[in-house]
Amino acid sequence: MRTTDPHPVTGQEFASPVPPGTGWPGDPASRHTPVAVTPHQVADLAASCADVAELDARITVCRACPRLVDWRESVAISGRRASFADQPYWGRPASGFGPAGAPVLIVGLAPAAQGANRTGRMFTGDRSGDWLYAALHRGGYANQPTSDHAGDGLELQGLRIVSAVRCAPPQNKPTTQERATCAPWLHRELELAAPTLRSILALGLIGWDATLRTVKQMGWEVPRPRPRFGHGAQAQLVTPDSRVVRLVGSYHVSQQNTFTGKLTEAMLDEVIATL
Ligand code: SF4
Repeated sequence: MRTTDPHPVTGQEFASPVPPGTGWPGDPASRHTPVAVTPHQVADLAASCADVAELDARITVCRACPRLVDWRESVAISGRRASFADQPYWGRPASGFGPAGAPVLIVGLAPAAQGANRTGRMFTGDRSGDWLYAALHRGGYANQPTSDHAGDGLELQGLRIVSAVRCAPPQNKPTTQERATCAPWLHRELELAAPTLRSILALGLIGWDATLRTVKQMGWEVPRPRPRFGHGAQAQLVTPDSRVVRLVGSYHVSQQNTFTGKLTEAMLDEVIATL
């Protein structure tokens, strides 16, 4: 059995999971990046990130959720989809994707086992990403409509994509404990984004809840009663320095919504146009 496989864009050989700092396109970490292995360490390392680059690096080497570490790495080694069996799998947490200081933030649920867990980039290499990046391209936020692999030239403008949980969970269902353990990464993400933030698009209920919980902890004003998630739902959040940030809800771009017609391209375009 091969111990390395060639990256589909660069051809460089990588082990799976990919060791940090070995040349994977867009890998923000190095072999010196500090690794969180407990919830306390996640909280400490997240809070002390000086900027988004440091946050991205620390997220991608995190090992604080034993069940998720096992799952992401076992998929990378022995759980590959047949059509990707000859590709290296990232097998690590996915950091945010998009420029620091972007006025728009998308908060999703978690990486997909055969998507971002394979390619190392949010919503990249699966049908959810096909939908999302095509819509972001139509909306003027992405330089191309496709997102197949890290290193494919995709760039975002004015928008950054993050998630409530940074590791692929079995059945796409993180536990309550795993969501809580991962929360400090999102907290720091929002703290760093806040000064320039205009709006947040929550993809699905978990992204909506995680955003509201986090901004409340940060002392933002949240309307009462608590805003309910729905496609096209909107809420005005107020930062401690009295800036308004709009929270907008969208059904998630998962196949169970896009295949069934619960979420159409027109519906997604409409919410993106409000950001
Ligand atoms: S889900 Fe979050 S906290 Fe848990 S191991 Fe992954 S990155 Fe770390």
